[in-house]
Amino acid sequence: MIHEILPVGPLQCNFSVIGDEATREAMVIDPGDDIEDVLSLIAKHNLQVKQIIITHAHIDHVGGAMKLRAATGAPILLNQNDYALLRMLDVQAAWLGMSDPGKVEIDLSIGQADTVQAGSLAAEVIHTPGHTEGSVCLYFPLEKKLIAGDTLFAGSIGRTDLPGGSLDKIIRSLHEKLMALPDDTLVVPGHGPLTSIGEERETNPFLQRR
Ligand SMILES: [Zn+2]
Repeated sequence: MIHEILPVGPLQCNFSVIGDEATREAMVIDPGDDIEDVLSLIAKHNLQVKQIIITHAHIDHVGGAMKLRAATGAPILLNQNDYALLRMLDVQAAWLGMSDPGKVEIDLSIGQADTVQAGSLAAEVIHTPGHTEGSVCLYFPLEKKLIAGDTLFAGSIGRTDLPGGSLDKIIRSLHEKLMALPDDTLVVPGHGPLTSIGEERETNPFLQRR
């Protein structure tokens, strides 16, 4: 598996490109910004992008999706519960003092238990509402790797004070879905350093059983 992580944009969202070494087919996750750099990375590995997956509809994760779709022809996938947030990208841009990326069109909704594929690589979609209603994580069972979006961070969890956020829901998503994964699962959060399910189960203050 080819996997490169590139922090993009002013909020340094962790963009991922995940490719099959044999077929050179790839999926990319959260192309928030810096699409020139993203395209260089894809070209460096000689990959063909098959899916553009958005973990949730915050501007720092989805802002560059249309540019990347135009450059690659790949469809954009997002859970339908975040379509309302996606229609507020101009409002989100104003909150953050960023420029409005314009309208983003979704080609397909992805939800719990769906599978996303590129070449021989397959990821299970886990619906983890809380940070937003439509937040999803991607789990690669063979590689024991989780792309967590803004649901789980090293030592913290996603904020729930923005529209569509719910602390009760994110805690339930974390305990019922992410903590069900094996301890040696590598976690790639939406921002900041990598971690593992075991490390977070033991030390994350939000995950201690109450
Ligand atoms: Zn977010």
